Amino acid sequence: MNLRRDDFAALDANDPLAPFLARFHRPKDLLYFDGNSLGMLPEAARRRAIETVEREWGQGLIESWTAARWIDLPEKVGGKIAKLIGAGADEVIATDSTSINIFKLLAGGLKLRPGRRVILTEAGNFPTDIYMAEGLAHLTGDVEVRLADDVVPAITEDVAVVMLTHVDYRSAALHDMAAVTSAAHAQGALVLWDLSHSAGALPVDLGEADFAVGCGYKFLNGGPGAPAYLYVARRWQKAFSQPLSGWLGHAAPFAFELHYRPAAGIKRAISGTPSVIAMSLLDASLDLLIEAGMHRIRDKAQKQMDLFAELVDARCTEAGLKLITPRDHAERGSHLSFSHPQGYELTQALRERKVVPDFRAPDVIRFGFTPLTLSYVDVWDAVGRLAEIWHDGLWRDPRYSVKAAVT
Ligand SMILES: *Cc1c(COP(=O)(O)O)cnc(C)c1O
Repeated sequence: MNLRRDDFAALDANDPLAPFLARFHRPKDLLYFDGNSLGMLPEAARRRAIETVEREWGQGLIESWTAARWIDLPEKVGGKIAKLIGAGADEVIATDSTSINIFKLLAGGLKLRPGRRVILTEAGNFPTDIYMAEGLAHLTGDVEVRLADDVVPAITEDVAVVMLTHVDYRSAALHDMAAVTSAAHAQGALVLWDLSHSAGALPVDLGEADFAVGCGYKFLNGGPGAPAYLYVARRWQKAFSQPLSGWLGHAAPFAFELHYRPAAGIKRAISGTPSVIAMSLLDASLDLLIEAGMHRIRDKAQKQMDLFAELVDARCTEAGLKLITPRDHAERGSHLSFSHPQGYELTQALRERKVVPDFRAPDVIRFGFTPLTLSYVDVWDAVGRLAEIWHDGLWRDPRYSVKAAVT
């Protein structure tokens, strides 16, 4: 490969998404490959935060629930997310965190499959997904959380809900959503997809899926701790119920009735008052993804990942970084993961040279590709700094082996 930095600058010059870079706060000289963990701050979200705090809250006070449409935010934001995941606007609502939403949907799914008491998931699933299922099993006392290395052959007739993360958080391997959903349905099970590493990263087609959840602060750029979302397929919305039956999921919250009656449609999946400031930021951030279009975002990410992997092959040959993400476009999400025995030390040394990937135990360095905040020259420069660190032996410095609380 005989690519030069100029070739990457030329790619930027011809990139239709390049103008989006200037609409984010990109700290100078920082090569940020962690938009898959915490997306960058859009200028529109910063302005919206000020507007929400100073005008809507500061001046409007209680009136803003209606005048600024705070009360409609969960549905409004849900409708925007629906556009990114191939769902109807009435099938998605922004609320709570991914963990809480998993709990609500698993409980709802079990109710819809009486007689079946198994939640089936993948042994490598993201920990909170498994932990929340375990919490539900503990509460009910008779639910089994079954872990399988290969889920499809493990879908038996006692399974109520199959729960999977679409893009694996470690390897970025992508499940075939349509195939798994149809295998689950063939056994009479429902399917819950976690889209935390899919929405905003690649076009998603939920197809016949029953339920989905996902997170707002990664590829959706909603800010730290942004609200999450959940999806309930239209055909289930009448029968669906969930146990965190709070007043804002009630059919008439301001009638202050004695007993719970679920709202019609997706609103019954809400529990309490939305986090208005956080949700306003997410609302503003989503417009950029919708404007850019998921197909253009996906195409650029694939190109950037191909180039990054080629550059690592060519320029970091002796480093022994092992790519554990599939090279096939159809089989991967939007990050590249390399395993390396000194993965943690290399990640720390990269951060000191202003390249930000993240590290996932036991030995994985993850580079996230978020095309609205990442240029082609960033790709070239990041691999250049990685090669330098390897050749200088900088990563051997003992201070890089001290583990931080958040990796
Ligand atoms: C990030 C992530 C979560 C996060 O859950 P929170 O409740 O927002 O902390 C859940 N599941 C997956 C697969 C994730 O990647």
